[in-house]
Amino acid sequence: MMVGIVVVSHSPALAEAAVNLALAMTVGQSPRIEIAAGAVDDVIGTDALRIVDAIKKVSSSKGVLVIMDLGSAIMSSEMALEFIDDKALDVRLSKGPFVEGLLAAVVRAVGGGSLDEVEYEAANALLAKVSQLSATSEIIINEQSSDSKTSLKPEISSQAILVNAIGLHARPAAMIVGAIADCHAQVQIASDFSKAVPANSPTALLGLAAKCGQTLYIQAAGPDAKKAVDLIINLVNDGFGEHDESPLPSLKSYNPTTGVIGVSPGRVVGPVLQLLHPISEPDVQVVLELSDRKAAVQHLMLAVAQVADWFKLQSARLEGSAREIMQATSVITTDPALIKVACEAIINCGLTPERAIWEATEDIVAEFSVQGGLLSERITDMYDIRNRIIRLLTVQDAPDNLISNEPYILVASDLAPADTVMLNPRDCLAIVTEKGGPTSHSAILARSLGIPAITGVTEVTAIVDGTIVLVDGATGEFIISPNDEQKGSVSFIAPISLFHGPGRTSDGYQVQILANIGSVADVPDAITLGAEGVGLFRTEFCFLDREDEPSIAEQVKAYRAVFKCFSGRKVVIRTLDAGSDKPLPFLPIRNEANPALGIRGYRTSWHSPEILCNQLMAIAQAAAAEHAEVWVMAPMIATVEEAQEFVQKTRVAGLTIAGVMIETPAAAIMADHLFEQVDFVSIGTNDLAQYTLAADRMSSDLAVLNDPWQPSLMRMIELVCRGASDLKKPVGVCGEAASDPYLAIVLVGLGVTALSMSARSISAVGQLLASLSLEDCRRAAQAALNSDSAQAARLVVRESLSSVIK
Ligand code: PEP
Ligand code: MG
Repeated sequence: MMVGIVVVSHSPALAEAAVNLALAMTVGQSPRIEIAAGAVDDVIGTDALRIVDAIKKVSSSKGVLVIMDLGSAIMSSEMALEFIDDKALDVRLSKGPFVEGLLAAVVRAVGGGSLDEVEYEAANALLAKVSQLSATSEIIINEQSSDSKTSLKPEISSQAILVNAIGLHARPAAMIVGAIADCHAQVQIASDFSKAVPANSPTALLGLAAKCGQTLYIQAAGPDAKKAVDLIINLVNDGFGEHDESPLPSLKSYNPTTGVIGVSPGRVVGPVLQLLHPISEPDVQVVLELSDRKAAVQHLMLAVAQVADWFKLQSARLEGSAREIMQATSVITTDPALIKVACEAIINCGLTPERAIWEATEDIVAEFSVQGGLLSERITDMYDIRNRIIRLLTVQDAPDNLISNEPYILVASDLAPADTVMLNPRDCLAIVTEKGGPTSHSAILARSLGIPAITGVTEVTAIVDGTIVLVDGATGEFIISPNDEQKGSVSFIAPISLFHGPGRTSDGYQVQILANIGSVADVPDAITLGAEGVGLFRTEFCFLDREDEPSIAEQVKAYRAVFKCFSGRKVVIRTLDAGSDKPLPFLPIRNEANPALGIRGYRTSWHSPEILCNQLMAIAQAAAAEHAEVWVMAPMIATVEEAQEFVQKTRVAGLTIAGVMIETPAAAIMADHLFEQVDFVSIGTNDLAQYTLAADRMSSDLAVLNDPWQPSLMRMIELVCRGASDLKKPVGVCGEAASDPYLAIVLVGLGVTALSMSARSISAVGQLLASLSLEDCRRAAQAALNSDSAQAARLVVRESLSSVIK
């Protein structure tokens, strides 16, 4: 039995010739192949009913691949699928090219390939041609960019797939602009769904709204065209250096009743200080004399340059993401597209420079609002740039009310990144805003500064300065004028005080508090902030940029570097978790309609078993060379057989402690059997929530469902703990749930024996745990399990613990 192939063409002659060519490759073997070519009366065209007949003729349990030529062939084939009654029959329409795809599909089908494999071969049948021609620097014409508004006759073009998790957001856009700034070339970039835009305009690049997995088409002309294209391709392939960043800052919590979102953890009480935004709309009535317009343009250019320099200056004194965000903002300030529109408005319509930049910004903001998502969160950045330029032009001072000697809780309608980086975490206890989201630059900066923050608080600007409020950036709680009892509940979570383990409850029950790391670079924070060891070493983060498999020696080096820092302590190392939101170029995964449900995690070893074996060997060698207590685990396990197989592989490699991650409901439900195979498990609550609630964890629209407080998730975890208790095997949690102090208490109450989290959460979790008894934790867990919603669970746990916190 082999996969059936249906060939759909406008022309019977073309279809027959293509089939004959394909058959010549199969050396005598007969594929199941049918032609559905020509319309009724054999005129040129296609006919859905002929396609249905052909599909039926070649159908079998192995499925059918339909290969089409163009235009109506695709529509007719789609229509044909509607007419197939046998819903169990797997029929797929190939995205592959007609001739090459057919050849590849036939050869793979005759070789006994599955429908997945045949489809994959057909879809990628042009790769050989493309790479051969690219190697000789020929031009690959991108149809989408050829109809660009700005006409560019490309001398060279190329394409690359966005591999960084957040895609072409502000920082990558700024990096592209910066990289080609010195090239003498006209460069344009298009994406899968957008026309080409100039590559020197960060706002235009942002407007592409290109996401991870989409292709960027780059074309250039001019003396440095090749250099410019190469620079961009390198940046894209390198994921813009965003290897060790978590895919998206996780939404900490969302309160559906109030709409408040916690975006940076920490619980504090303090007086409100409103951020002033003294900028009024420039007068639209003023029209400049013709003779004054040139000078007005110069004023605008000067102000723009000064503001860009100011952002650059800020970036120089900062580090990490704060530095990068300020650099990107500086590049966006001098965006030629923005300036051009403003200058034209001055010259052609006589607008004042302040009015011109006001209107030019509004145009871009309107586009960002339409695109929504991450782009809408860049609106605050655009307004901040505009306001700073206008303040310079109209000689207004920046608001200086943030220079305060008393601690305060900053309250604002929204907060620009530049305002946020000016905050001193010693004085600014928390940030409360009406607008913004978990992925806004301000939220990212607040997290990096360790300032608790919440957003989505309505009518926040009406709160009078000095009013005492309670803010909890982990739970999204916001209380105006909290009572004494509520105020008392904050004392145990100082924003970033140090924790000195080991983790234990007030009555001495030990729960390991461990750190999640992506490479040795994360180790210093983990150790300083009190981690007892590592509960999740995401090894894929060491190699996200690699085109080829890292050698065993390279891997040993990377793993030893971490093991060395934890002599005598536990390091749970996870084998490569590739696929879905973390593609690894050297572990290619075919195009999948649902990557999160596809070949990812442990499943990649189905096709590339040698990569897993090499990694296990490298881990074993690194472990033997150092003195850490090395535990190894596999991600994305769904069946007991997989667990058994993985453990066998680890034993062959010479590793002694082997476990699996529980990230699928299937694994949670089968936990009792899994425990018979493994030495331990670690629950990945991020994925377990995604699969339990059937909600893509990358979608901010579904964040409410991916809330780790969902009682369904807790019931899954309870199942796992119950499975562990008979055999007394360790159960860790290494997903985001472990970094929420109250939820961590619930996890301990459910029976979790180790909590692993980002280093910054260790102190809050460790301190709350130390203030409660095991019985308190169990009571909290029971209360959460009995809740019927995430929000109810939060409230009931908070209530059950408020009276007992020591
Ligand atoms: C998880 O899914 O909870 C987990 C820890 O793994 P990752 O976030 O790396 O997918
Ligand atoms: Mg996971």
